[in-house]
Order: sequence, then C-alpha cells, then structure tokens
Amino acid sequence: MGKYIGSSCRLCRREGEKLFLKGTRCTTHRCAFDRRAYAPGQHGSNRRGKLSNYGLQLREKQKVKRIYGLYEEQFHNYFKKAARIKGVTGETLLQFLERRLDNVIFQLGFCTSRKQARQLVSHGFVYVNDHRVNIPSFLTKQNDEILIQFKKKGKQNVDDNIKATQGRAVPEWLEVDHTHYKAKVKRLPQRNDVAFPVNEQLIVELYSR
Ligand code: SF4
Repeated sequence: MGKYIGSSCRLCRREGEKLFLKGTRCTTHRCAFDRRAYAPGQHGSNRRGKLSNYGLQLREKQKVKRIYGLYEEQFHNYFKKAARIKGVTGETLLQFLERRLDNVIFQLGFCTSRKQARQLVSHGFVYVNDHRVNIPSFLTKQNDEILIQFKKKGKQNVDDNIKATQGRAVPEWLEVDHTHYKAKVKRLPQRNDVAFPVNEQLIVELYSR
C-alpha cells in the first residue's frame, strides 16, 4: 500500500470542498481551493455533470477517509468493525474515527491539523493514563487522561499551535487544560459532535453493495 505523497490541496480540489488538511494555512489567502475551486488535472475545470448514486457514495467515502488521513484498508476495517457492533453503523464508524488519538490531539487544539497530531503522537510526546502511546490509531475511551510531555524540543511548536487554534471550539466530549498540556475524554463522541458535513449513510451504502 503506497503512501500518498502528493499535495493535500489537490485532495480538497478533487472532493470539491475544503477539507482543512493543512492547519492554519487553510484559513489564509494561500488556500488552493479558494483560488481554484475545481478538480485538479488538465480537464479539471471542464468536468461537469451530475454524479451517479455510486459516484456520490464514493466521493463521500473518499472525503471522510481523506479528512482523517487514512488508507482505504484502514478505513474499510473501521467500517467492518462498526458493522459488527449493534447500533447505527454509520454513526459507530464516525465514533471510531473521532476516538482516534491523533484526532483527539487535533481536536484539543494541540495541533493545527490531524497530520501534525499524528506526528506528535508517533514521536512519543503523548501519554494516556500515564502510559506513553505512540500509536495514532489508539482508540480513546471515556475518562482517559491525556498529557503532552516534552523532550528537549517540541514545547514551542505546541505553544504556537495552541495560540493558532484559540478561536476553534474544543468539542464538548473533551476537556482541555492548555496551561498544563492536559486533557480528558469526558464521554464518547456522539453523531452531533462531528463538526463537518457528512452523510455517513452514503458510505454504508457503498460498502454494502
Ligand atoms: Fe484544502 Fe485549502 Fe487547506 Fe489546501 S489550504 S488543504 S485546499 S483547505
């Protein structure tokens, strides 16, 4: 499975909406989608027409997959896991994605993008319940206590990120103490805690074909 090394902005343009993959840059005039809001590639600006039902389902899945920065296999595994659990599969899928440690670190405002949060976790800065966790896909649960601990470097970057994300609301299911670099998972995320527009039913339909 290859790693995507292309431009993140290209992904937004492909999905036809801002996915906010680049942190603070996404809210500046440097946003590529603001400047060229059409699909990438030679014929991108000529692409028109209504998407088929399959096309809609595929685009929705690709969008969510890209927002959380996952590969197809990882994303499909979350779906399979969600489908085995009693409840609404689409909502369970979103809950799994939101509970990922890299997403939690991003939501808490310690990082400006999920990509950056993934790095912070994998470089060993993040502790959950006093244990170092360097796996970005680690699933947080209710009452988990999170702490960022710095080595020689890193503090200044996190301080800058906290400053940059000050205007962004921390979701209600999380509690954060930026002064002490601490946080807590108050409860599991619910459907209405997902802050971006998504029709998860389309993803369920796609994988149920
Ligand atoms: Fe997407 Fe714009 Fe951010 Fe690039 S800068 S990742 S196009 S939102």
